[in-house]
Amino acid sequence: MAKIETLAWMDGELLPVQDIRVSPLSHSLHYGTGVFEGIRCYAQTGGGGGVFRLREHLERLHMSARVLGYALPWTTERLTEATLETLRANKMDSAYIRPLAWLGEGAMGVAGGDNPVHVMIAVWHWGAYLGDDGMKNGIRVHIASYERATANAAAQRAKISGQYVTSFMAKRQAKALGLDEGLLLDRDGFLSEATGENLFLASKGRIVTAPDDSPILHGITRETVCTLASDLGIPVKKERFARAAMYAADEAFLCGTAAEVTPIRTVDGRDMPHSPGQVTSAIQSTYLQLVRGEGPRAAEWITKV
Ligand code: PMP
Repeated sequence: MAKIETLAWMDGELLPVQDIRVSPLSHSLHYGTGVFEGIRCYAQTGGGGGVFRLREHLERLHMSARVLGYALPWTTERLTEATLETLRANKMDSAYIRPLAWLGEGAMGVAGGDNPVHVMIAVWHWGAYLGDDGMKNGIRVHIASYERATANAAAQRAKISGQYVTSFMAKRQAKALGLDEGLLLDRDGFLSEATGENLFLASKGRIVTAPDDSPILHGITRETVCTLASDLGIPVKKERFARAAMYAADEAFLCGTAAEVTPIRTVDGRDMPHSPGQVTSAIQSTYLQLVRGEGPRAAEWITKV
């Protein structure tokens, strides 16, 4: 990726990214106590930019900090404005948006103390996260040899920096094997999600994803997909499924803000019968139209820049 030289919002000010200095003694750098979001802004069919489900992402950012036991010094309303200001300052109609909050310099022990809470919002151009060919023809995945942490070892529904160590290792493992993504099993051997995306199967015209009480991030795209599927008359099931169900499925896809809706072409060396299949294609095209401002749900979910 090219060097990012945009303006970023940091603690209330817009500054060139390369001028922002962060202390090497920042607590979160040592202990992974940052919280973050990944959001996308899309060029709208009717002109201008629009941020998809901005409120939900910023509310999840607040929730993630709350789970760790600290509060962000800015309201959702102020962070909404800050996001829009950053996009406007960079003259961007389409962008990937990365808000990050972290504990700064102060007490150096694991528990920290009254370390300041910093917040920054950076933006950059980011194309298809799993590649243009992946979006069109599907990606190659395997079931990783890492598992998702149990409920008492991690707070999966929060987006906490330190929790991405497992994702980092699993993603590197997949790449080292020449694959695009790794899928993680939960403690009981059921599929949970990928390193940065939620997972769906499609069989006999219905879609299935892991239940809400499984160790997954409650993806905003996952929820969007469930709503769009219902709108399209595709039944949605949230239930546990094991690797055999995945191998036997007609279609499978990953979804997330970065990955959007990406079909899966092979899993553990087995070709999916359809990639992309009819169900995945219908959901993918409806999603890609929606984020560009088309369809009945756009007004509710898109914040104009
Ligand atoms: N799972 C994980 C582990 C993720 O990092 C992401 C990306 N935020 C997702 C799922 C998808 O979440 P969302 O649709 O909210 O981007």
